[in-house]
Amino acid sequence: MDYLAGLNSEQRAAVQQIHGPVMIIAGAGSGKTRVITFRVAHLIASGVDPFNILVLTFTNKAAREMRERIMHLVGAEAKNIWMGTFHSVFAKLLRVEADKIGYPNNFTIYDTDDSKSVLRAILKEMNLDDKLYQVNFVLNRISAAKNNLISWQAYQQNEQLQADDFSSGRGMMGKIFETYVQRCYRAGAMDFDDLLFKTNELLRDHPDVLNKYQHKFKYLMVDEYQDTNFSQYLIVKKLAAVNENICVVGDDAQSIYAFRGANIQNILNFEKDYPDLKVFKLEQNYRSTQNIVNVANSIIANNKEQLKKNVFSEKETGDRIKVMRAFSDNEEGKIVAEGIMQERSTKGLKWNNFAILYRTNAQSRSMEEALRKLGIPYKIYGGLSFYQRKEIKDLIAYFRLTFNPNDEEALKRVINYPKRGIGDTSVDNIIVSADKHGITPWEVITNSAQYLQRAPAALPAFATMIQSFQVLAKTQSAYETALYIAQHSGVLKDLYEDKSVEGLNRYENIQELLNGIKEFSEREDIEEKGLEVFMQDVALLTNDDKDKDKDADTVSLMTIHSSKGLEFPNVYVVGLEENLFPSQMSLNSRSDLEEERRLFYVAITRAEHKLSLSYATSRFKFGTLINCEPSRFLDEIDAQYLELDFTAKPATGNSNNYDDERVAWSRSDSFSKPKPKPASTQVKTTSILAKAHVPSANFKPSDTTNLQVGMEVEHERFGFGKVISMEGNKPDIKATIFFKEIGQKQLLLKFAKLHIV
Ligand code: ATP
Ligand code: MG
Repeated sequence: MDYLAGLNSEQRAAVQQIHGPVMIIAGAGSGKTRVITFRVAHLIASGVDPFNILVLTFTNKAAREMRERIMHLVGAEAKNIWMGTFHSVFAKLLRVEADKIGYPNNFTIYDTDDSKSVLRAILKEMNLDDKLYQVNFVLNRISAAKNNLISWQAYQQNEQLQADDFSSGRGMMGKIFETYVQRCYRAGAMDFDDLLFKTNELLRDHPDVLNKYQHKFKYLMVDEYQDTNFSQYLIVKKLAAVNENICVVGDDAQSIYAFRGANIQNILNFEKDYPDLKVFKLEQNYRSTQNIVNVANSIIANNKEQLKKNVFSEKETGDRIKVMRAFSDNEEGKIVAEGIMQERSTKGLKWNNFAILYRTNAQSRSMEEALRKLGIPYKIYGGLSFYQRKEIKDLIAYFRLTFNPNDEEALKRVINYPKRGIGDTSVDNIIVSADKHGITPWEVITNSAQYLQRAPAALPAFATMIQSFQVLAKTQSAYETALYIAQHSGVLKDLYEDKSVEGLNRYENIQELLNGIKEFSEREDIEEKGLEVFMQDVALLTNDDKDKDKDADTVSLMTIHSSKGLEFPNVYVVGLEENLFPSQMSLNSRSDLEEERRLFYVAITRAEHKLSLSYATSRFKFGTLINCEPSRFLDEIDAQYLELDFTAKPATGNSNNYDDERVAWSRSDSFSKPKPKPASTQVKTTSILAKAHVPSANFKPSDTTNLQVGMEVEHERFGFGKVISMEGNKPDIKATIFFKEIGQKQLLLKFAKLHIV
């Protein structure tokens, strides 16, 4: 079988080990995903029915790419493999089995916005302080409980959880959890966590269903296993219990979702659960140059908690890793965009050879601006999804209501959009009446004479309209149904009448959605093509799942979290600053800091040929300009692999008030390792300091806690001066100092190197 030739001996051994439990925990770029792909092909080539294979991937995009690859290797049969994210795969399973756990099979999937909206309504009804009970906090807490398979009943009985809530003043959490679950249930809706929670419940309470899927999925594979949570772990364990043909691959050094409940323990449990486990080691990195692999290794070595691994590359040594300093976030964008422009033209690359990775979504702004200025095409991954836009959600809410009229969030969204005279008070009355009679709002609406004292005149017409959509959907194609709903609900007309640029844009988006549905109606690889099927996992789709521009030649922008598993020839990791990366929130505990370091490891290991890192010395955060110091992660890299590029000069007009005090690279102590710096470093470092004052013989940076106005000081680079004013609170005290040689400067004391004379 010639495809086996594309694997090294250890990879091949793992691919050929098709029976029994298999685990591969190996470093980035070592071919773990490739092993899964080839293993599936090998299973099919060995006669395994694709219907019996389940593959769980980290994104739907990854699943799609894998499927294409497998089809390439073994042909069209690969269509029948169950392959996708945990959420999409088990949503599909629940569509078939939901009635067994008391849900309609056409249940709605509530996305995060829907969940928050439900919670907001509950907090309001319960008259709770929304500062104390912040919606995000409440949702996270409920989510964490569900992912640990704690039901609301168990939550209310759990002494520890109760004690935590009471001590933080949030004693009503248990009650909120209960109400939230009941609201979702009444609406025939599952939120994201329910898709896993309810699957567990189903497999636990229905041995026949469990049995059925244990025999269906004779072969299971899980990519990115290090990021599974308890709920996912248990599903996999249960499904694999009969045949034990389970293969998991992952890298503990890339575990980056602990904050969402991912549990690295699952790797250790795996060894306990399957004593017959066969473990394969992959050590060769096929993705990156030696320099990149060495840098990644040197970074991760700083983590105490990790399984020791050898990772090496036999590719070329490659360029050194470039470190670029900018004076502001905007300038950082500019340096990166110019760098891309130049690399592309000198090396004859394409835009899609480049990726810009950042810690937080907010950082995309300065990057986007700079790219736009230079006319560089780009695509943001994982940003606001197409499906999250208001107009799209509005129309989809009509679709949702058509298939599940009990869906309260959809109902609230469109009952008076476009305006038809059913105001907020009427909506409140409907809901109150539903609560009172223990029925759903839809039942109130369809029997308004019975349940409402004063029903708005438009209500019966609204109900009739939705019912007419329901009738139509039974016989028409997805596209015909969708178009009819868009027209008859008034959504299209409303957007058409808005002649503003935004209005036009929204109208075009609706057209795009309808085009997407049309394409879906015409697909040949699926049999069920009703709108209902299209709708099934629309809540799980992200921007990246739209096929349309998948081959477009654009620079990719994304957070490091969403770059997991991907690779690009040329990678820029930006914003390497303390309090940003590592993030401020991570500085309280070693385990959080180690997670940030793993995130940095993930970022670095996305690069194939060239890696550039950058930081800004000042940045706008929440509307204020703050000074930033370079990330400790930069200090952790062995200097021999670095090339420093400090050529950027502060642009006039955008430099900030404070001076850049913390030029890590100009400090003799900034490299923790006493390795000699490469020649280029020394040249550049010296040139930065060339203009600086030469400190006097007894210059020694002093403790500035007692610095006072009037004191005389010497500064490492600015020379002698006098403190003329001080402002701010510890640790962010700023001193304005008048220097004899260069005049007045404002310095942030925590970074300033001052000798009190
Ligand atoms: P990550 O941890 O980042 O998810 P991974 O271990 O899944 O990485 P892959 O993405 O499977 O690694 O492989 C990295 C790159 O190396 C891919 O481009 C893959 O095609 C290539 N590769 C892996 N093994 C081989 C091999 N034996 N021969 C040639 N190329 C290989
Ligand atoms: Mg992978």
